[in-house]
Amino acid sequence: MYRKTFIFLIILTLFRLSHPIFSIQAENTPVQPGVVDLRILETTDLHASLVNYDYYQTKVDNRIGLVQTATLIRKARKEVQNSLLFDDGDHLKGNPFGEYLARIRGIHKGKIHPVYRAFNFLHYDAIAIGNHEFNYGLGFLNTVVKGAKMPVLNANVFSVKKKKPYFTPYVILKRNVIDQSGKKHKLNIGVIAFMPTQIMRWDKANLEGKVIANPIVDTAKEFIPIMKSKGADIIVALAHTGISSAPYSDESENAAYYLTTIPGLDAILAGHSHNVFPGPVYKNYPNTNIEEGQINGKPVVMAGAFGSRLGIIDLKLKKINGKWVVLNGISFTRPIANDSGSPLIKKDKRLYQLIKKEHQETVDFINKLGL
Ligand SMILES: [Zn+2]
Repeated sequence: MYRKTFIFLIILTLFRLSHPIFSIQAENTPVQPGVVDLRILETTDLHASLVNYDYYQTKVDNRIGLVQTATLIRKARKEVQNSLLFDDGDHLKGNPFGEYLARIRGIHKGKIHPVYRAFNFLHYDAIAIGNHEFNYGLGFLNTVVKGAKMPVLNANVFSVKKKKPYFTPYVILKRNVIDQSGKKHKLNIGVIAFMPTQIMRWDKANLEGKVIANPIVDTAKEFIPIMKSKGADIIVALAHTGISSAPYSDESENAAYYLTTIPGLDAILAGHSHNVFPGPVYKNYPNTNIEEGQINGKPVVMAGAFGSRLGIIDLKLKKINGKWVVLNGISFTRPIANDSGSPLIKKDKRLYQLIKKEHQETVDFINKLGL
């Protein structure tokens, strides 16, 4: 009897291995032909935190660092068929590593800034310029941006001289996506980026007479019909701006809440204020669902700062009468460390190797100064 049961179990195990359709997951979630799951990943406000290291105290800090977020990125990509990765800006300045690279070492012609080297290595699909990107001047920024292998976007900063957007305002990414039944589809994902207009005050010396900044919501309303006419099936906003439900004005620094009210925008990646959305800070905001990560029914995510979290938006899309429709969109974030600072994942060693040289130079420089 025992022997018969044993043989039966072996046959069943082999059968299950060769027929994954019988897995428990497949039984619980019936396949919906034509439905595409698209995962959107966000890093934001990295502030040059590539390594899990506190340069002020010259010691390891596992609560920060893209070398750790990178492991979450790989894991989140592996879980799904279709994914995109974006950075929401403020990635060049904010710690001694960024300072050393910009003010001491410099980025020489043809060399790639370690932050952009990391973005290239991790295959970001597009990145946004944040307000702090202007802190080292337009010359430095223009040199650094040349090293990016992905579109570098912003739609609301205009060149005074050229009378057009200073950066590439938006891009339409053409991607093949796979639906739940395994069928391939073509999807055009529009991506547009914004930043606070306060740059004109914060970086007056670097920007006055060279650029002007237009209001975020007006700029979105101007570009969305253009992007739609150029074939964007869905539109993602890389909104380097925080979330505030205070009444909107042209001067609103944190305008992500109001971007959710604009028809045509399907997913909003917020940033700038270093908060976490969905999160308890926003639980009493009007029309805000912190369980599903939605504001006014739209998925929004904000992944803190310094690589502490990965932001994730999961969209469900379906083509209905020839048009892609967002059936549902939810958001959440994943931390790299627990509350006491113990890492929840291992760092990406290959990424660390790529940027180790400049990291070590920075540490040596700090040690030499005796800070
Ligand atoms: Zn910012």
